Formats: sequence, C-alpha cells, structure tokens
Amino acid sequence: MITEIGTVFHDKLEGREVTIRGWVYRHRTSGNMVFAVIRDPTGLIQATVKKDRVSEKDWKDANDAYVESSLTVTGVVKKDERAPGGYEIQATGFSLVSRGEPFPISKDLSDEFLLDIRHLWVRSRKMTAIMKARHHIVNYLREFFDREHFYEIAPPIITKSGCEGGSTLFEMDYFGDTAYLTQSSQMYAEVFIFSLGRVFVFAPSFRAEKSRTIRHLAEYWHLEPEMAYYDHEMNLKLQEDMCQYVIENMLKNHSGLLEACGRDPLDLEKVKTPFPRMEYKDAVDRVNELGGKMEHGEDFGADEEALLTKELDRPLFVHKYPKGIKAFYMKEDPKNPDLVLNDDLLAPRGHGEIIGGSERIWDYDELVSRMKEQNLNLSDYQWYIDLRKYGSVPHSGYGLGIERFVKWILNLDHIRDTIPFPRTITRCYP
Ligand code: ATP
Ligand code: MG
Repeated sequence: MITEIGTVFHDKLEGREVTIRGWVYRHRTSGNMVFAVIRDPTGLIQATVKKDRVSEKDWKDANDAYVESSLTVTGVVKKDERAPGGYEIQATGFSLVSRGEPFPISKDLSDEFLLDIRHLWVRSRKMTAIMKARHHIVNYLREFFDREHFYEIAPPIITKSGCEGGSTLFEMDYFGDTAYLTQSSQMYAEVFIFSLGRVFVFAPSFRAEKSRTIRHLAEYWHLEPEMAYYDHEMNLKLQEDMCQYVIENMLKNHSGLLEACGRDPLDLEKVKTPFPRMEYKDAVDRVNELGGKMEHGEDFGADEEALLTKELDRPLFVHKYPKGIKAFYMKEDPKNPDLVLNDDLLAPRGHGEIIGGSERIWDYDELVSRMKEQNLNLSDYQWYIDLRKYGSVPHSGYGLGIERFVKWILNLDHIRDTIPFPRTITRCYP
C-alpha cells in the first residue's frame, strides 16, 4: 500500500512502516548515509538511507538519484526535530522508478529561462501551491453560483464579432471566411437569461493585448455571470458576495496554502463587505489628489488604479462612467444621461481591476440608437439586437478575470504565475 506524504504528518504513523512514491526534492550524501527529501503531491518528507540497512542495489539507487528522479521509498516513520516537518523515514528500501537526467533548474535562474522550461518549473513548491490554490478558488466560485441557482452555459470560442473592440481580436481563417477567437462570452450568456434566468459562463477569452503588463494575458479565463431582473445595485451586491464567499472559504480551509503562496491571511481577513464605492468623477478627482494626472473622460490605467487602491484593505467599486468611454450595451443612468450604470471592481493593495460589469440596455430602440451613435455595424450584431424584440427584460452581468482574481487573493506580483502556460505578446511556447 502506498502512503501519501501528507498523511504521515496528519495520522499518527510514528514507528510504522510506510511506502511512499514520489520525486527527489533535495539530495545529499555523507559517508555511509544518503539524505533525500522526497516530495509527492501532498507534501515533503526526508528519507535517510543508511548503507547497512538496505540492499546493495537500493544503496546504489540512493546514491545515483538526481533531483527530480522518481522513486519509491519504504521505511519506518521516526520523529526527528532536525527533519523538515519533524518526521523522517528511515529507509529499508529505496528504489528508483526513473533516474532520468540531471534536472536543469537550480537556484538563481532568469524569469525568461524559467518560462522556457515552464513544463518543468511548474513542479516547484511555489507553482504547486499556486496551482492548488487556483483549483480551490475556481471550485468555490462554481459552488457559489450553484448555491445561488445559476446555470453554467458553454459558449462558442469561435465567433464573428468582437465585444471589446477590433484592435485586440485574434483573427482566423474559417473555411475561407474570417472569424475571431472570442473576447468575451457576455452576449451569449445574455441569450440564456430568457430561459434560465441566472447563468454564467466560465471559459477562455482571447485578447491580442499589444503591451506587456503584469496583468494582461493574451488568453485568460473569464467568468461571466448574467442575471435577469438584476439592476445595478443587485449586480454590485452579487460581486461582493462572490468575493466574500471565496475569501471566507479560502481562509477557513486553506490558510496554509495561502501562506505557501506568499499571502498573509491576516491581511485577507480585512476584506469584508460592503465594499466602498466611488463614482467615476470622484475617482478621477481622487487620483489627481493623490498625485496622479488624469483628465475627466479618460479611463484609468494601471498606475491610476494602483494609486486608488494602494492604501485600501478591501476592494473599491468605481461606477457610473461617462457613456463615451464605455461599451455600447451599457444602460444609461436614469439620473444622468451622460453616464452609464457600470462598475469596475478594483482589488486593494494596488492590484487593480478584477471585474467589469454593468446593467445592460434591454430596450430595442435604446440599443439601436446607442449602436448608431457609436458607429457600429448593426448587421454584425443582429442576433444580439434580436434578443430585445421578444420578451426583453431588465438584466445585468459582469466579467471576472480569474487570473486577476487569483493574483489578488494570493498577492502575487505578476499575472503569469496564476496560469500554467501564460500567453503573452512575446510567448506561446511551451
Ligand atoms: P483592462 O482595462 O485592465 O484591460 P478591460 O476593461 O479590458 O480591462 P473587461 O473587458 O471589462 O476588461 O473584461 C472583464 C475582466 O476580464 C477584467 O476586469 C479583467 O479581470 C479581465 N481581463 C480583461 N483583459 C484581460 C487580459 N488581457 N488578461 C487577463 N485578464 C483580463
Ligand atoms: Mg483591456
């Protein structure tokens, strides 16, 4: 029977013989002893191999092992203060499954090199912790929407028109015609509020982002809820509740993992709803007060968002932007026809935008006239306009970038480590 390393620490296995299956994490020889730290998906443990306690073949295997050689170790669990984690395995058997070759990663390698050998670097402690944390974050998101009675919809990835604007579309040949990789599934999600009420899409979005930033990827995972009969206020509340649900559960069930990723759980505990709100015009003034330089009518860039959120311990809603700088489907603010009922949710400590949302235009004439104002080609969006002809209802929705969310929750410096194989302007290998 194989024992997982994690259970050696949890269950009282001291004095018992176990067999573990893993990879060499660290390796050192000293006279008639070999010290090998072994890792498996559940943890690390040190194995000590003494020459006179194992067979000749096993002694050779123990000496020959490289970092990342795969192996099976059998031995007795002993308490040992000096060993990492307080326990070690005194080996009675040590057998390489595959010795392999010397591992190409050692300390102090450049970021670029680590990205070139991403397929190996993802085995590192940090990347392993991040991938586990991402898994839990995504699970809690799904769980949240399931509890709120949302249905998940599978959207198309190949589409005919963009929703974000032409400049960031990836174009492809579609049997002699032109098609694009989707930038957002929002419009397809809207289709389903008429039959399912509350829905969400969780799928990749593609954006040919021309600049190199610490928060843009060319391919990212996009969670897009869309809700019938939700107004602006309800939309914001849902965004808060969603963040709160994930954070509470991560803190309750995975605080060790948060720490392993470099996130201080105490700082995350300060994230409590309701989140503060600022109207766009006040946020622009605030940026200027804080030493930024920004005109009314401009959108916030990373620097401005960092200024707004650096000192905050919880996210900030910036809402009610000028109509002219926002997407055509956003509903006008009934109190001010120059503004729309949208919001960006900015994560604290300088992380910046994680969500963009809005109440949608649901009236046929209003949508068509806005599209004309913005010089859009109506025929490109005919099916979307059509939705307003047959039993239209008020509705709202938003888009959360999963990698931005993970970056914030784990407090990472760069978005690239939140996804196994980041796609950027300079990289789509491995
Ligand atoms: P930004 O101004 O940062 O480029 P955006 O206004 O283009 O963002 P939206 O179109 O509103 O973003 O998309 C919704 C969400 O998708 C964003 O709030 C963000 O979390 C995420 N997102 C957008 N573009 C990217 C990207 N290139 N890489 C990763 N996540 C992204
Ligand atoms: Mg953008």
